[in-house]
Amino acid sequence: MKKFGFDVRIAVCVAGFVLAGILIVADEIFDIPSRVFNTPPTPVNWMELATETFFILVVGSLTIFLLQQLNLRRKRAQEMLYLERDKLATILNCMEDGIYIINTKHDIEYINQAMLSQFGPVKERKCYQYLHNLEEPCPWCKIQSVLEGSSVRRDLYSLKNQRTYDYIGTPLKNSDGSISKLGMLRDITERKQLEWDIAKLEELDRVKRSLLSTVSHELRSPLATIRGYASMLTDYRRKLNESKKREFVLAIKKDADELTDFVNDLLDLSRLEAGLIMLEVKPYSIVRVLKRVVAAAQIRLPSHQILLKLTKRLPRINIDVIRIQQVLHNLIDNAATYSAEGTEIVVSARKVDNEMLVGVSDQGIGIPAEDLEKVFYPMYRIESKEKVSRGMGLGLSLCRGLVALHEGRIWVESEVGVGSTFWFTLPLETARSKSVKGGR
Ligand code: ADP
Repeated sequence: MKKFGFDVRIAVCVAGFVLAGILIVADEIFDIPSRVFNTPPTPVNWMELATETFFILVVGSLTIFLLQQLNLRRKRAQEMLYLERDKLATILNCMEDGIYIINTKHDIEYINQAMLSQFGPVKERKCYQYLHNLEEPCPWCKIQSVLEGSSVRRDLYSLKNQRTYDYIGTPLKNSDGSISKLGMLRDITERKQLEWDIAKLEELDRVKRSLLSTVSHELRSPLATIRGYASMLTDYRRKLNESKKREFVLAIKKDADELTDFVNDLLDLSRLEAGLIMLEVKPYSIVRVLKRVVAAAQIRLPSHQILLKLTKRLPRINIDVIRIQQVLHNLIDNAATYSAEGTEIVVSARKVDNEMLVGVSDQGIGIPAEDLEKVFYPMYRIESKEKVSRGMGLGLSLCRGLVALHEGRIWVESEVGVGSTFWFTLPLETARSKSVKGGR
């Protein structure tokens, strides 16, 4: 309570006692009551006056002493508090990690020096404006679960400074019982970049190894067959009858077709990676495309029952018909390759929100959960004891690239031993003609 350079409470106390002393002395000496009320004067009782003055002096001194002691203690406690606060502030400001506190309304209540140097001063009060330049709370915001008492930890990418942080959010109980969120941000941009680079190198290494083994193993056998049959045709031309010759020529054609498909897929994939594939997009009826592809597949794959299931009134969509046929062709061929003869393959399409959802389901061997994403990697094939097919692992990565060019998504749902469904979406509105960089 030091307002004017001295403690007001002590000053009031001293003034009180001085006033009381003056009143007692005045009362005794000037006999104020008898003058005021016109009563006979009473003689000055010097003994009583001395006692009262002494009493006032003792009580006054004691009170002032106690007040001073209390003041001293309060001052010491306050100094300790300031010291602790400054220590805490120094620690928080020396930290390389950003620390901030926000309230339930997303208002920033505190930031430390590291936040200041990474995100600048707090001009906008809301955390989503300050951290991400957004005008509304982030869609991924976890403040509710933090305010409910749980801690949250995840990677956070700042849209404001394009850096990646290891983010920890913890509930912070305030003195009034309310809860704020304490956020801690550790910049891990370089570490993440390194992890990403390593993953890319590993992937590149895997593709290189797969390409080598594919070329050395898978290409050799059709080439050996072609060479073998070609040698037989040249060396034993006269001894072979017409039907044998025809059989050999057909075998050569089959393996040459396989090789052509492989080279075409490889070329398409590298063009996709280089962003060289141009889509010829035009409004087209997906029903017509599906009917055509299914009819062709029924002739090509008589071993399976290929069915088409469509919902009523499907709108026309903007697609490159040849490329979408290529995707469907690949998925249907895979469905037949990886399921037993006589089983059903169902091709379906329906409109979901602003997208067309197309599915190819089979009752085949299925795909283990850990491979559901990897099957779309180039040259990725699931290792199995019994070799089901002689594929190169290019088909699905091509499908993913082509669907991505149409701004759609592709994924697979599967259960081992039961079957798989490959889904892909196509947006109902797509640009007319474009070249988008492909890839996974
Ligand atoms: P491949 O030429 O080897 O078939 P893909 O890229 O088309 O190459 O497929 C990659 C891998 O995904 C296949 O080797 C196979 O193991 C798995 N796969 C693809 N389609 C199916 C399916 N319908 N059922 C089970 N496994 C499948």
